[in-house]
Amino acid sequence: MTVCVLHAAAEMFPLLKTGGLADVVGALPPAQSQLGTNARVVLPGFPAVLAGLDDLQPVADLGGAFGAGNIRLERGVLQPHGVVVYVVRSDQFYDRPGNPYLDAGHRPYADNDRRFALLGWAAARIATGADPAWKPHIVHAHDWHAGLAPAYLRAFERGGAARVASVMTVHNLAYQGTFPASEFGALQLPGDFYAVEGVEFYGHVSFLKAGLYYADRITTVSPTYAREIQTQAQGAGLHGLLQTRTHDITGILNGVDYSIWSPSVDESIATKYTQAKISGKSKCKTALQERMGLARDDDALLFGVVSRLTEQKGLDLLLSAVPDIVQRGGQLVVLGTGDPALETGMKNAAAAHPGAVAVELGFDETLSHSIIAGSDVVMVPSRFEPCGLTQLYALAYGALPLVHRVGGLADTVVDSSLENLADELATGFVFDTFDRAGIVGAIRRAFALKARRSEWKAVVKRAMGQSFGWEDAARRYAEVYQGLLGA
Ligand code: ADP
Repeated sequence: MTVCVLHAAAEMFPLLKTGGLADVVGALPPAQSQLGTNARVVLPGFPAVLAGLDDLQPVADLGGAFGAGNIRLERGVLQPHGVVVYVVRSDQFYDRPGNPYLDAGHRPYADNDRRFALLGWAAARIATGADPAWKPHIVHAHDWHAGLAPAYLRAFERGGAARVASVMTVHNLAYQGTFPASEFGALQLPGDFYAVEGVEFYGHVSFLKAGLYYADRITTVSPTYAREIQTQAQGAGLHGLLQTRTHDITGILNGVDYSIWSPSVDESIATKYTQAKISGKSKCKTALQERMGLARDDDALLFGVVSRLTEQKGLDLLLSAVPDIVQRGGQLVVLGTGDPALETGMKNAAAAHPGAVAVELGFDETLSHSIIAGSDVVMVPSRFEPCGLTQLYALAYGALPLVHRVGGLADTVVDSSLENLADELATGFVFDTFDRAGIVGAIRRAFALKARRSEWKAVVKRAMGQSFGWEDAARRYAEVYQGLLGA
């Protein structure tokens, strides 16, 4: 039997991306199709989504819901892989410029609960026959935006619809989609769903909790994060529920789309290069130094950051270590956008160290590739990190990742300790304690390794030889689906 799965998500690369979620939703369905799963996606009809799809056609009129009228379901195709994408058309909810979640003042839209309830509801409608030509066996919901999909499936089932299985994937437990209890009435769920055994979370409605409670299986994006979220320290209030579901939870590491993130095919970097012929990497470094106004110096150890500027990412800790980088003759380039305080901190660091620290505030896909290609070291000092993609891209480009030992970072980077160097395992720099001494120790190891030219080269080659393809991940998801449908 060909398994049909409908992914429900708010973002999909290259249509719309604010973070790693989009990369996953862009890459997993084509990888699943390669393995014989019939995977489709449903997205909100944001302007960028509509603009990027081919062959948009009407599928069904969904009527009115959540205070919005005239909701339509359409279907288009995303090339080059030909993934079929459903879009939920509600101009009232989705036809807004800019960030999909925040208004021009960077505040969440006041109607986000209803905007994303519609996404989950539409996924459940597709699962119960809204498209006469296709129906999934499984709805696979991603993050809180789609968290109500499993709840609507249960609600429709109660109304007589056939049972459809569901999977909830947590890309980041810190974003839970929590809204006032007074909004529950607007969500069109049975009244008894507002309960501890349901969508209620400390007197609020939580979309993520709903998904974690009602979905048949739960996955998250690395084995270490799957364990961490079941602890009180890192469970963000949901560890109790997650512990009760421990046998339904699987950690599956994200993959890398190497057709986009590989220095041998990357059109957006100064010079392509490969593991065997790596000379182009120093040209990328020079180009990056020029582009960012850094001193042109091949010997300066160049640290790069491409990140959302949020507390999660640990960049306050990095800021405290900037003098340690600069005093050793190193350079730092940062691309990011987010918290105003962190943006200011970055700008101040650049002003204090002209020619050695350069910062670009904003979201720039092309520059992100240039930074990963041109840096010697890419820093991901996150407080917590479900999987992390940046360090995986960095490995592929021979920019050694410097990371905090948490979540997916712990699962993918091996520290250049003496013993790991001796055993030919090292691929980067890993620090254990989230404090200045921890990160500075790792920075010092980076400088020390750089001074040993041939060992540095060997670690770079090993990093580039790591493989985190989507095929493995797609196979693991297929196992989850099989376990579910066989049960
Ligand atoms: P998260 O999803 O928490 O933001 P990930 O490491 O999983 O973290 O994914 C981040 C993705 O977003 C990567 O593809 C990274 O290159 C990209 N990214 C983050 N910030 C920027 C930015 N300012 N400009 C361009 N790309 C960015």
